[in-house]
Amino acid sequence: MAVPKRKTTPSKRNMRRSHLGLSASNFVECPNCGELKLSHHICSSCGFYNKKSIVSMENLDENNELDSDS
Ligand SMILES: [Zn+2]
Repeated sequence: MAVPKRKTTPSKRNMRRSHLGLSASNFVECPNCGELKLSHHICSSCGFYNKKSIVSMENLDENNELDSDS
């Protein structure tokens, strides 16, 4: 079996891991309600996308209550 000749130094190990960091998600303000939302995603607080109501928040609340009861 092939075996590494030398132990990887902390410097080399950390250089390899320099790309593994997490980057912050890019939030944008919802044009309808002003809440922060992910770009190209439906707004989670008002259910709008592209200036149109896609999901009615009243229905969502009912569904959430049903889920919590069961
Ligand atoms: Zn919104």
